[in-house]
Amino acid sequence: MLPLGTEIRKTVLLGTEDRAGLFVEWWAEVKVSTIELDGPRYTTSMEPIIPGTKIHRLAIKGLESVIDHNGNRLVLAESEHPSKARATLMAGAFNCEPFTGVILNMWENWNLNDLNAWCDHQFGATQRGEIALGDRCPECGYGYGLDWLVRLIPARTLKELEEILGATI
Ligand SMILES: [Zn+2]
Repeated sequence: MLPLGTEIRKTVLLGTEDRAGLFVEWWAEVKVSTIELDGPRYTTSMEPIIPGTKIHRLAIKGLESVIDHNGNRLVLAESEHPSKARATLMAGAFNCEPFTGVILNMWENWNLNDLNAWCDHQFGATQRGEIALGDRCPECGYGYGLDWLVRLIPARTLKELEEILGATI
């Protein structure tokens, strides 16, 4: 685990596309850090976490760039929406990297994983936009958006992330 206050930040190529001679690239900017939870908190499966627990925090955003005719890379757009990135990368004529699907999955599931407004049961409804502030979960009783729940990153996912980033986290 990284020492508190340090961060690994890498920009990973997800896919490229030749658009009639314009070379378009999609990237994920991946940031991993260690944070200490300062108060009593709950996981998205409503397990209590004791104050002072250290966890991995993951933050991902997408970048779309293009190589201009002079060979310079220009950033066209930033994306905070993994579902849009998935639609672009999977539906287009992009040449994706072997781990592109893995990164998209991490982005969809663990981006800002200490700041989840939803419990695990509400995740699907959240993705579909079918939930409102305070809506109670029929399974665990949690009210949507009433707390910041923590989604812990499984050890297997952390290991995959270490391999993609080429760094110990
Ligand atoms: Zn629930």
